[in-house]
Amino acid sequence: MRFDTVIIGGGLAGLVAGISLQQAGHRTAIVSTGQNALHFFSGSFESMDEAPERLKTLFAGAGIRLHYSAGVRLMPLGIFREAALSLEDVSLLPEPCFADKVLILGIPGYLDFFPSFLAEGLEKQGIVCRTSMLNLPESVRESPAEIRSVTLARMFDRNWDRVVQQVRLLLKDEDGVVLPQVFGLEDPSVPERIRQGIPARVVFAGTMPPSVPGIRTQLLLKRRYEVLGGTYLGGDEALEARVEGDSVRSVTTRNLDRHALEADHFVLASGGFFSKGLRSNPFRVWEPVFGLDVAYDEDRNAWYNDNFAEDQPYMNYGVRTDEALHPLVEGRPLRNLYAIGSVLGATRPELGSGGGLAIRTAFHAVDEILEAV
Ligand SMILES: Cc1cc2nc3c(=O)[nH]c(=O)nc-3n(C[C@H](O)[C@H](O)[C@H](O)COP(=O)(O)OP(=O)(O)OC[C@H]3O[C@@H](n4cnc5c(N)ncnc54)[C@H](O)[C@@H]3O)c2cc1C
Repeated sequence: MRFDTVIIGGGLAGLVAGISLQQAGHRTAIVSTGQNALHFFSGSFESMDEAPERLKTLFAGAGIRLHYSAGVRLMPLGIFREAALSLEDVSLLPEPCFADKVLILGIPGYLDFFPSFLAEGLEKQGIVCRTSMLNLPESVRESPAEIRSVTLARMFDRNWDRVVQQVRLLLKDEDGVVLPQVFGLEDPSVPERIRQGIPARVVFAGTMPPSVPGIRTQLLLKRRYEVLGGTYLGGDEALEARVEGDSVRSVTTRNLDRHALEADHFVLASGGFFSKGLRSNPFRVWEPVFGLDVAYDEDRNAWYNDNFAEDQPYMNYGVRTDEALHPLVEGRPLRNLYAIGSVLGATRPELGSGGGLAIRTAFHAVDEILEAV
């Protein structure tokens, strides 16, 4: 099968690149094994100190709205993290002390949200907290294994008005309400409707994975890519590449067997260790599809920091590239391959980290590919 560009990895970086190339009239395929970092996404993009027009337009085309305001975000374990560019339904607060008294509402049987941790974090900010529970319909309570973020979000998308009624009944003299972020999977307007129906400041706090706003973002980007005519080979895995001289000719995948994917350009958006874009054993770290050069410490003792709360050096490891993001094999660049997103680790700090790195490097590769045509 022949395409203009084949992209390996359907996370944020791969989808942004795929959508941009399809919009420019390219014929592309994305091959992606499955789960990616968006499924764990907080809803705020790291290292984005502005909302580039190009990104806003791309996301708007997919039905994803962003908002930009510097502030803090309440994380699942009750700590606050600075955030700026975020999905529209993600609550950003100008400062951690957003209310005097807060009602934190859990859900019976839902184990991925911790009202008591949140209360501890908020009380450190001087906020008086009370915790209580929302009621679930009996049909849901009967099958506790089903009480996960996505199931709850599907149900609440249809019954958000009942949540509003319950919160109004539970509210005493609190001027703030904290709810788990399990609203707006299929209808992103639900969080705002809930906010408007409750006479207190409503904050949606992140839950443990999976992340409802992250899953929604992934689904909308994938749908947009396919509407634009992109070929999304989900559940497949790129296995190895045929390289001639300094160019990649084709990539074989697990499902397509002998039918290799051929293209003029290839984009490696396979993520870091978390997504198996990078692999390791006790002796080495490697990139499995192309056998690219990887920047990592030869001394294995330097891979980890004994203090788990600190940054871990292995998270900085990534494939080596030249200035144009062509990855290197034995020091020499592959001219029609680009590495983007978290497979780069922290090898290109000037391009940011997290979501910012994924978006910037995806646009960079797209521009290079379009220029080369
Ligand atoms: C748990 C977690 C939470 C995070 N939260 C945030 C956050 O809130 N905000 C933020 O800005 N950043 C966050 N990040 C950083 C995150 O890495 C980036 O934001 C960004 O989403 C990474 O996108 P990516 O496309 O580069 O990689 P990924 O999202 O990792 O996607 C890579 C994809 O490639 C696929 N793949 C791998 N190898 C192959 C192969 N051989 N063949 C086919 N497919 C393959 C994987 O299955 C995966 O689907 C988080 C990271 C993690 C790990």
